[in-house]
Amino acid sequence: MKIEKAEVFVTCPDRNYVILKITTESGLVGIGDATLNGREIAVSAYLENHICPQLIGKDAKNIEDIWQLLYRGAYWRRGPVTMTAIAAVDVALWDIKGKAANMPIFDLLGGSSRDGLLVYGHATGKSIDQLIDEYHKHKEMGYRALRVQASIPGIERSYGVSKDKSSTYEPATKGAIPEEENWSTEKYLSYAPKIFDAIRNKFGFDDHLLHDAHHRLTPLEAAQLGKSVEDFKLFWLEDPTPAENQESFRMIRQHTTTPIAVGEIFNSIWDCKTLIEEQLVDYIRATVCHAGGITHLRRIADFASLYQIKMGAHGPSDISPAGMAAGLHLGMWIPNFGIQEFMGYSEKMLSVFNVNWTFEDGYLHPGFKPGLGVDFIEDEAAKYLISRSFTNSSLNRRDSLELVSWV
Ligand SMILES: [Mg+2]
Repeated sequence: MKIEKAEVFVTCPDRNYVILKITTESGLVGIGDATLNGREIAVSAYLENHICPQLIGKDAKNIEDIWQLLYRGAYWRRGPVTMTAIAAVDVALWDIKGKAANMPIFDLLGGSSRDGLLVYGHATGKSIDQLIDEYHKHKEMGYRALRVQASIPGIERSYGVSKDKSSTYEPATKGAIPEEENWSTEKYLSYAPKIFDAIRNKFGFDDHLLHDAHHRLTPLEAAQLGKSVEDFKLFWLEDPTPAENQESFRMIRQHTTTPIAVGEIFNSIWDCKTLIEEQLVDYIRATVCHAGGITHLRRIADFASLYQIKMGAHGPSDISPAGMAAGLHLGMWIPNFGIQEFMGYSEKMLSVFNVNWTFEDGYLHPGFKPGLGVDFIEDEAAKYLISRSFTNSSLNRRDSLELVSWV
């Protein structure tokens, strides 16, 4: 199973996606998501210039050995760009191995630990009334778990809430350059409990309720928020404070029993070592595509399982359908799985990625096709120009479909 070709594609069917395609001498093809939102070109350049040339001639069967080569051989270890690039290779190789074995990836990992993955969607409102409408719509779609976010009166922009009249949700890293925001922690801390109170009053306590503070708070403020919302029984409070200083979560833990989730920007096991060892959080949100692939996230999940910490992967639509599928396969196996974020994909996105997953009654299943179960449609991808996203405007002139082959 020698690797003959490694190609990188950049496309934008509503969101920018970077895809690595690996082809073996026998014609087996594997794909991996290399999308790092807001830094897409950095990962494609890392793959094209530093990784693809190393892959040619390697045996695609030896996933662990290739992972170690790319991690240790670079001398510069870790970091989101490196670990996203390694993840793309890793997932493409698992895709190939699954196709060679005629098995879905979750079977290669040890088989299913569950019938499907509990997922949570996003209910977002510019007011509590609009949030209640959105919540109701998502319940009708089948969701049993929802992240709720609403505009805070007196704050011009609230995280996750769109300023655009036509939509409610605002993804991170959308737009040419990052926007600056005015923020008031005082207003947020006094209003947030009212959001959960309104939802629990209207819909009761049967659904799982989640909320993202998006790194806005100090550890003490996060402890105050966690304590003030305990009666609403949140599934989790996400990203209460930045996690560069893992020890800072001790303060939150000492003051509240509200479950804590963190880690959507983690890229290695070292980012969560103290959080796990000291049981400072309840859920780790690292993803397959930003944390070194299936091979490395499996290692994080196993380590977390020793401390009764569960996995709850990040999964907005800036992770491509190929990246989502990889997370679903790993989630099927993970014994200490908690929940998966899933807000769905547009028709345009799904015209570029043929997926085989199914969504029913709030649960996702990756399907039973060999490998990843996702086909990347290159002709469709070629139609969509990369969109300026935290990048230099000159990149607007790049071709819609960037392609570098190493043979
Ligand atoms: Mg978050």
